[in-house]
Amino acid sequence: MARIVMKFGGTSVADVEKIRNVARRVKKESDAGNEVAVVVSAMSGVTNQLVAYVNEAAKLHDAREYDAVVATGEQVTTGLLAICLQELGAKARSWTGWQIPFHTDGMHGKARILSIDTDELETRMKTGEIAVVAGFQGLGPENRISTLGRGGSDTSAVALAAALKADRCDIYTDVDGVYTTDPRIVKSARKLDKITYEEMLELASVGAKVLQTRSVEMAMKHHVRVQVLTSFAEIPGTLVCDEDEIVEKALVSGIAYSRDEAKITLIGVADKPGVAARIFGPLADAAINVDMIVQNIAHDGKTTDLTFTVGTADLEKAKKVIEDSKAELAFKELVADSNVVKVSVIGVGMRSHAGVALNMFRTLAEKGINIQVISTSEIKVSVLIGEEYTELALRALHTAFGLDAS
Ligand code: ADP
Ligand code: ASP
Ligand code: MG
Repeated sequence: MARIVMKFGGTSVADVEKIRNVARRVKKESDAGNEVAVVVSAMSGVTNQLVAYVNEAAKLHDAREYDAVVATGEQVTTGLLAICLQELGAKARSWTGWQIPFHTDGMHGKARILSIDTDELETRMKTGEIAVVAGFQGLGPENRISTLGRGGSDTSAVALAAALKADRCDIYTDVDGVYTTDPRIVKSARKLDKITYEEMLELASVGAKVLQTRSVEMAMKHHVRVQVLTSFAEIPGTLVCDEDEIVEKALVSGIAYSRDEAKITLIGVADKPGVAARIFGPLADAAINVDMIVQNIAHDGKTTDLTFTVGTADLEKAKKVIEDSKAELAFKELVADSNVVKVSVIGVGMRSHAGVALNMFRTLAEKGINIQVISTSEIKVSVLIGEEYTELALRALHTAFGLDAS
C-alpha cells in the first residue's frame, strides 16, 4: 500500500468523457489499496478564457480580483471528477484550495504556498475516501482567494505530496514524459527515462512548461519522487530524481524556449554609478521579475543603452513603472519589443566541459539568426532571438548537440 498524489492537467480533464477516463485511472490506484489524493487543473483553454475576460475588463486590474476569477476553472473539474468517481462506486469528495486550505502569501497572481492543513484530508484518506483537490489556488492573507501563477497545479500537487509525505507524485499530462525539447515543435525529440531535479529546474525555468518551475524546486527540496506521464496510455514516463540515480550524463540534456519574453531597451541612460539600482529598484518593488540584462558601453562617455527582459504579462506594468520615473532616470527613449523568444540549452555536463556556448552561437550563425541578448549559468546558456526563428533555432540546436532520436 502506498500513499500517492496524482495530478491531471487541462487536456486530461478537457471534457466529461476525459474526466471519466481519469476517474477510472484514479479508482484503479485506490482499488489496489493505495491512499489517493488527486489534483486537477481547469479544462484546457478555460484559464486562458478567464484571463482574457479579466484583461478585457481592465488591462491594469486588481490582482486579488484576477485570482477570484481565474481560480473558478478548477472548481468545476474537481466537482465533476468527484461525481465521476462516485458513479464508479468510489468514495470521493472535492476540495477547493481554500477549503483545505493551502495557505499562501499575498502575491496575488503568483502566490507561494506557505503551508497546507492536511489533518482532515489524511483522516478521510485513511478511510478510503479519495480527495479531489483543486490545483492552482489557495488562501491568501485577509481571507482572499489566491492563485499560484500559470501552470501552478503542478506545484499544488508536489506541495500536497510533500505535506502528505506521499510515496509518489504522478503528473499526468498530454505528452508521455519529459523530452529533450518540446516534442510538439521538434519531431525528433527524445523521451528521457530520467532527468535530474537540477536539469528539470533549469528546463522549467527557461520555458519547458511540462512542469512549473516551483513544483520542481519543491520536489527537490522535499525529495518528492515526481513522475511525468500521459493519461492517455499505460506506458512509463520520466522520473525526476537525484543526479546519483543517473548513470550516463549527457553534456546537453535539453533545449527549451520561452515566448513569454519582452525586451525593453532604455536609450540614452546616464552612465554613472547607481543608475541600474534606480531602474531595477522600482521594478522589484512592483514584483516584476527582470531576467536577461545587457548594458552597452558608453560611446560618448556620458550615456549608454540598457536592455533587459521581463515576462510578457508584466510588460505594460514595467513600461508604466519606468515611464513614471522618467524624470529621475533621465533616459531619452524607451523601446519595447515582445516579438522575441528565449532559447536555452541545459546540461549538468557543462560544468566540466567547455564549448557549449560556442557550438550554440556557431549553429545559430550558420542559420543566419541574430542573437540579441545572451545570459549564462553554470548549467545553461540562453539567447534572445527574433520570435520568427523559434522552430528553426530549436531544430538546428537539437541536431547540433546530438539529441535527435536515431
Ligand atoms: P498540462 O495541461 O497537463 O499541465 P502543459 O501544457 O502545461 O500540460 O505541459 C505539457 C506541454 O509541455 C506539452 O504539451 C509540450 O508541448 C510542452 N513541453 C515543452 N517542453 C517540453 C519537454 N521538454 N518535454 C515535454 N513536453 C514539453
Ligand atoms: N489552470 C491553470 C493554468 O492554466 C493551472 C494549471 O493548469 O496548472 O495555468
Ligand atoms: Mg501545466
